[in-house]
Amino acid sequence: MTKKRKVIRSEVMGFCMGVKSVIQIVENEIEGEDGRPLYTYGPLIHNRLVIDRLHKSGVGEIEAPEEAEGGTIVIRAHGIHPGKRREFEDAGYRVVEGTCPRVLKSQNTVSEYSRKGWNVIIVGDKNHGEVRAIEGCAERFTTILTEKEAESVPVPDKTLVIAQTTLSMEEYDRICQILSSRNPEIKIVKSICPATRQRQSTLKELIEKVQAVVVVGGKNSANTRRLYLTAEKTGIPCWHVEDVDELPRDLKKYEVVGITAGASTPDWVIDNIEKAIEEL
Ligand code: SF4
Repeated sequence: MTKKRKVIRSEVMGFCMGVKSVIQIVENEIEGEDGRPLYTYGPLIHNRLVIDRLHKSGVGEIEAPEEAEGGTIVIRAHGIHPGKRREFEDAGYRVVEGTCPRVLKSQNTVSEYSRKGWNVIIVGDKNHGEVRAIEGCAERFTTILTEKEAESVPVPDKTLVIAQTTLSMEEYDRICQILSSRNPEIKIVKSICPATRQRQSTLKELIEKVQAVVVVGGKNSANTRRLYLTAEKTGIPCWHVEDVDELPRDLKKYEVVGITAGASTPDWVIDNIEKAIEEL
């Protein structure tokens, strides 16, 4: 009998709390079958395999009320611009909350300060759904992503600074230092989610124990890509795969392989990858 290759899993990997919860919400809605068509607001998560499964279960994807003729719409973990939510409600959709509680907290904080007349600086990717949803809660805001932008963005008194939950903590700290040096009175919100950091730090521990690393997750998932880049920087042989058929034959050379996975990678994909690596 051939000896199985040893696979070590990262201590923290795969679905984060927000993703786990929204998937459960959609599954409950599928089982509930109230007879109305079921949609998610855009792709539920950045994982093609999960999205394919949802499509097969009859769950559609829309981004505007006119794309369908009513039904139930589940908001994804990234949240939704409040104006867009109202459009769905006004068009008669049943809107089911799937926004991650951490993102909801950021949205509520921005709404609260905006109502009191504060200016808001959002640190994040302006093309990301979560950032657009937070922008929708602000009256006056600027979205920035780089230290260079932090040096020139207006920082008036009564400025609230808040970050996209998945931003790197180090990057946010550096940007906040620049903004504070320009106006020490700014209020900084600690909005970064520990899920990303935990996956990063446990990957670094894993790299110490293995000969090669496989990072599992959607090619369009930013946090999965960041995990891959972290492994790559250390010089360890590493690959980013979405599914079993992408596993490289080169892995056969290694006796101990580590695996980690982004926050939108389901357990069943991780299990399949682990089994396939063991049996290569
Ligand atoms: Fe929520 Fe954090 Fe997951 Fe984003 S990464 S959905 S903030 S738990």
